[in-house]
Amino acid sequence: MPSRFPPRETLHRHPGDGWVACGDHRHWGLYGAAGLLLARRGPGIRGPIGPVTDVVLQHRAVWSDQGGTWGVPGGALAPDETPVEGALRESLEEAAVEPRTVHVLGTHVLDHGPWAYTTVLADVMPGARVTPGAADPESLEVRWVAVDEVQTLPLLPAFAAAWPVLRARLDDVRR
Ligand SMILES: [Zn+2]
Repeated sequence: MPSRFPPRETLHRHPGDGWVACGDHRHWGLYGAAGLLLARRGPGIRGPIGPVTDVVLQHRAVWSDQGGTWGVPGGALAPDETPVEGALRESLEEAAVEPRTVHVLGTHVLDHGPWAYTTVLADVMPGARVTPGAADPESLEVRWVAVDEVQTLPLLPAFAAAWPVLRARLDDVRR
């Protein structure tokens, strides 16, 4: 076991943990996986809700799958969980984001057939303040990242591919 791998008992374990074979590659999460893309907005021209200024990203621990890259907090779904429930649970465990501070806007699904990844798009609940942080050994760092900084980070390839669509979805929100 590499010395930088954290003690087993410090990791959250779930019944959905495990690999799914998908063609010539594999994915983490027997029941699929989900993550939370939480956005913060500036003031709008005509109202309180303006364009997205920052999103919460996680710098993934180097020992994890595709470690060292940045992505959204998330992970494997439990068998009895919806993607939204799983994304909120993982965000609390990994990033100290309280579910009551999250206003879910919608979902974006990457469907690979035997496995799917659901990105849950969300705003900070009006009036709430979110101070994310690395809450378990799966993260090196969790923080607000300015939207224009996102593409300068070494991103998880799947997140890098989805980011333009996800950002457009967030910017399309009108409330
Ligand atoms: Zn696949």
